[in-house]
Amino acid sequence: PVDRLPEIQEARLKLPVLAEEQVIMEAVRENPCVVLCGETGSGKTTQVPQFLYEAGYASGSGIIGVTEPRRVAAVSMSHRVAKEMNLPTQVVSYQIRYEGNVTSDTKIKFMTDGVLLKEIQTDFLLQKYSVIIIDEAHERSVYTDILIGLLSRIVPLRNKKGLPMKLLVMSATLRVEDFTENRKLFPSPPPAIKVDARQFPVTIHFNKRTPLEDYTGEAFHKTCKIHRMLPPGGILVFLTGQAEVHSVCRRLRKAFPFRKGNTTDEEVDTSEATRKFKKSKQKKTSLPRIDLDNYSALPVDEGDEDRQAGIGEEEEDEGSDLDLGDDPGDTEEKADPSIPLYVLPLYSLLAPEQQAKVFRPPPPGTRLCVVATNVAETSLTIPGIKYVVDCGRVKKRYYDRVTGVSSFKVSWTSQASANQRAGRAGRTEPGHCYRLYSSAVFGDFSQFSEAEITRRPVEDLVLQMKDLNIDKVVNFPFPTSPCAEALVAAEQLLISLGALKEPVKDLERAKLSSPITPLGRAMASFPVAPRYAKMLALGKQQDCLPYVIAVVAAMTVREIFEELDRPAGSEDESSKLAQRRARLTQMRRLWAGQGASLLLGDLMVMLGAVGACEFAGCTPKFCEENGLRYKAMVEIRRLRGQLTNAVNAVCPEVGVFVDPKMTPPTESQVVCLRQIVLAGLGDHLARRVQEEEILDPKWKNGYKTPLLDEPVFIHPTSALFKTLPQFVVYQEVMETTKMYMRGVSAVDAEWVP
Ligand code: ADP
Ligand code: MG
Repeated sequence: PVDRLPEIQEARLKLPVLAEEQVIMEAVRENPCVVLCGETGSGKTTQVPQFLYEAGYASGSGIIGVTEPRRVAAVSMSHRVAKEMNLPTQVVSYQIRYEGNVTSDTKIKFMTDGVLLKEIQTDFLLQKYSVIIIDEAHERSVYTDILIGLLSRIVPLRNKKGLPMKLLVMSATLRVEDFTENRKLFPSPPPAIKVDARQFPVTIHFNKRTPLEDYTGEAFHKTCKIHRMLPPGGILVFLTGQAEVHSVCRRLRKAFPFRKGNTTDEEVDTSEATRKFKKSKQKKTSLPRIDLDNYSALPVDEGDEDRQAGIGEEEEDEGSDLDLGDDPGDTEEKADPSIPLYVLPLYSLLAPEQQAKVFRPPPPGTRLCVVATNVAETSLTIPGIKYVVDCGRVKKRYYDRVTGVSSFKVSWTSQASANQRAGRAGRTEPGHCYRLYSSAVFGDFSQFSEAEITRRPVEDLVLQMKDLNIDKVVNFPFPTSPCAEALVAAEQLLISLGALKEPVKDLERAKLSSPITPLGRAMASFPVAPRYAKMLALGKQQDCLPYVIAVVAAMTVREIFEELDRPAGSEDESSKLAQRRARLTQMRRLWAGQGASLLLGDLMVMLGAVGACEFAGCTPKFCEENGLRYKAMVEIRRLRGQLTNAVNAVCPEVGVFVDPKMTPPTESQVVCLRQIVLAGLGDHLARRVQEEEILDPKWKNGYKTPLLDEPVFIHPTSALFKTLPQFVVYQEVMETTKMYMRGVSAVDAEWVP
């Protein structure tokens, strides 16, 4: 029996999924696998684990496991469910890559999909679970796809062994045919239950014209207009990345400053907002509707751009009043403290306590405005949103299949995603979605986003699967298969790293069925990509392991350094920024060391930063002062611990430990480290272009790589920018303004094969 607080119980009863509890539980009882679809916010993530708990799925020996593609969701959902059930976090817990609060009393465990995949490696039958829920399956993240493939085999195996297990796949969209109609995956189709969400109608307002460049400016102006002209209700703005989120937050805070004390109490403020609303309606007629400056670049759409989305009754002709029109150019707003806006950023790298703020009601007398990236699209439901501003774009990482060069590109999102975003406005009452693009542009969006597995390299997955003795990865029941080229490239890389056996005949190579080697097994046990796993496997030499662990941890955590080329908001800010930049550059130079250690390049800078930060106790203050991202440094610390344990498990005789006062490596250790790095990144070797080879000026200071026709470069912020060694290895090539190598370290000519 669960003892919920009355207010929680009341809120639950309003969730659409509660009305389906019996249908869902009956389907789960009668079928090994069930698919559940329901709009975001219908209560799937928070309620279904509770249904299973109350039906006794965690009262025997097994527990309830829930996977999420995002760490944010795993952490926040476990807290939420614990609170709803009035149970401690020892019982409703979470586990993500670096941390968790799981205990032997845990009954419901939220985790990232990667964590469960790792667990399958140690216990293929997942015997500690009586049920697994795969959440957010519509996101089609690589690990989610693989898990569904594996579980489609594990569930029948468990049932055959008399240890029954259930699988529940939950999706926010109705597009589940890849799961239900895929006979290779599920020979008999699982039932798909649809939860009818009480979605209020959302009126869609398309822009007449589509800003091709300054969509953040457009998002800012649209938000200002909504705030000034429209009745109370939260605003959710979708942008593509952290930098954009911060810039729009800053501008909005400046336009509608909120300080403690400048708000009146709620009642007065509501009438104030209404008065402003009425007043601005009169003002509105004088706003320019056509932006002549923008005219030539943009086709003018004709016809009615307002559309009703979603089911439900038409709204009374309020539509036209709420159509705010396209926005004029880049005028800054005049600060108006009389209508404070409570502006919060939301993106996945944001600290959890900051993220949690969006769930709390805004201070009385203010309007909530969340400026978010894609995280707000489906995994988190922010209460009280009535207006959505959608830039229509998404930032994704793209990989070149042949060269492996990656770049972040902002591109149009899919129609399905845009509709998800719009849906966020209609959870509590009818809402409005302002799309900063025309209906014609929307018509050209692809219908759905592609499954991630078709868009990225798969060497890590192939290694994990081989470790599960799935030798013929091509035959695996993927919901969507990765492309053949990617599978070939992965198999080749793993052979060159020594993780798979070299095929004897070409025919064997063609079948992609090389079995795993003992080295490959060791590599698979490390929670990092194969290139880095190889470095760990070689780290024993010359007592280098603690350094290899620290470097690998630093290389696999995203963005450990604060950005140096952040744009300044004002002149005063810009001189401060210049000072700061100078200091941070100096710190990086210090960490790069001297003499021999310089040749380890960017990796030495990382090692130096990790060492210095740990030595100082890894405090937020130290990070702030030295331009390190605190969250990244905490992750590195945890990952060092985790990698240290993993290495000790494979190779207990080395007895490696995390030393907070690690001394810098000696000269001969640096040489050894560079060789280890070369062994892992051997396929990322680049040779400096010789003077006499330069036929085209763009090759100056360029490097030649085996796969690329174009030169690649050492970035000005790199520790090796001035040295320009003859040979280097790099972590990856990122295309920004040029093709830049990241994480560069020098290679001695005699080491090059
Ligand atoms: P779904 O998984 O179907 O998208 P959820 O179970 O995540 O739906 O959300 C159901 C409801 O619970 C939503 O209305 C949401 O606002 C509320 N909710 C979820 N997390 C929190 C939280 N941390 N604080 C307050 N309310 C929350
Ligand atoms: Mg959910």
